Amino acid sequence: MSGFMEVIIVGSGTCVPSVRRAGPCQLLRAWGSNILVDSAAGSLRQLLHAGVRQDDIDLILYTHFHPDHTGELVPFIFASKYSPSFKRKRPVLVWAAEGFSSLLDGLVAAWGEWAEPEKGKIIFEEIPRGMNTCQQFPPLVIKTAPTKHTAHSLAYRIEAPDSKSVVFSGDTDFSEELIGLSEGADLLVMECAAPEGKKVPGHMTPSEAGMIASQAGVKRLVLTHFYPECDESDLVTPCRQHYEGPLILAEDLMRIIV
Ligand SMILES: [Zn+2]
Ligand SMILES: [Zn+2]
Repeated sequence: MSGFMEVIIVGSGTCVPSVRRAGPCQLLRAWGSNILVDSAAGSLRQLLHAGVRQDDIDLILYTHFHPDHTGELVPFIFASKYSPSFKRKRPVLVWAAEGFSSLLDGLVAAWGEWAEPEKGKIIFEEIPRGMNTCQQFPPLVIKTAPTKHTAHSLAYRIEAPDSKSVVFSGDTDFSEELIGLSEGADLLVMECAAPEGKKVPGHMTPSEAGMIASQAGVKRLVLTHFYPECDESDLVTPCRQHYEGPLILAEDLMRIIV
């Protein structure tokens, strides 16, 4: 698996129930590791359609705490305790912004021991807020930048030893920090929640996504996180006014080799 990087769009939708699009979730398979970025409710089952089991996951990165991005966390913890098929030898790491521990405390207050992982099976780590960070997940390097969505929202850049890189924007409004984090990336997986002319604060339109991709000089752009009205609109033309590189509109279970 070394030298191999692939993004699987597990869910390209939002909180709005949709037959076509599962809720927000992406999987990065990189150099032998499986890294999940967000986990909407139903993501574990959706992952099975991509041939990935729960105990194949090494690291979960949360871009922010909204329920449509974190809905599978409690089911993940619960299944790691009570599913006979969960047989990992190494713990699963879960990273999210500072403040995540309060969310976890709240989940345990609500669900009791059912929301508490067994010791050593799942390890939670918080990433400092309001600054750029750089951490090792050997042999990968994972960088973060704050984005403009909630107080806890982060974008992630994963870099491989061969210098290939993938950025996940998470939910965000137009963000200079995201441009900086995405500079020269091989692939930028970018939220584009609203069609042109229907901007929702805290989210991106296709033209803004194109501007960010262009200013960052990314080599390929994937738009995802589509509310239903995006599917009735032309996303490509407004994006193309700013970004000329390869452009992909995400669909569930799409695989993109980096
Ligand atoms: Zn959100
Ligand atoms: Zn969202």
